[in-house]
Amino acid sequence: MVLISEKDHELELLKKRLRDKGYKLTTQRRAVLDTISVNEGKHLTTEEIYDLVKKDCPEIGLATVYRTLQLLEEINIIYKLNFDDGINRYELVHDYEDHHHHHLICLKCGKVIEVEGDLLESLEKEITKKYNFKITNHMLKFFGYCSDCKDKI
Ligand SMILES: [Zn+2]
Ligand SMILES: [Zn+2]
Ligand SMILES: [Zn+2]
Repeated sequence: MVLISEKDHELELLKKRLRDKGYKLTTQRRAVLDTISVNEGKHLTTEEIYDLVKKDCPEIGLATVYRTLQLLEEINIIYKLNFDDGINRYELVHDYEDHHHHHLICLKCGKVIEVEGDLLESLEKEITKKYNFKITNHMLKFFGYCSDCKDKI
């Protein structure tokens, strides 16, 4: 059995998906993916990714980072999050997730907490039955105040 790390796996997947679309794995594309991967769980914005990538690739421009993020999203390597504040944030797509996890967004400090487990399967079943509607996906965001903020509002 060959054990490959999650990171190698990500890289292989990226190479394959890029190749399938006729793109190459450039240093810059790799640097953008590495940055998102290393900062897993932080839900980085385009500007934050740019600032971090610049440390390894000082010659990279914001436009390149922007285009790279679009490309990585298009080939389903990263996922674009929209928390209704007009700012795009990105995180990796994980093979082990059937569908993307949900987030709790603190309205005071902006903290983003990932929700473990989905809990919506039974609701989907009920809706499917009631409306005879085949559900293929759902989106859900929770807005409110985190444990640090909820007593200070
Ligand atoms: Zn908070
Ligand atoms: Zn997340
Ligand atoms: Zn869900």
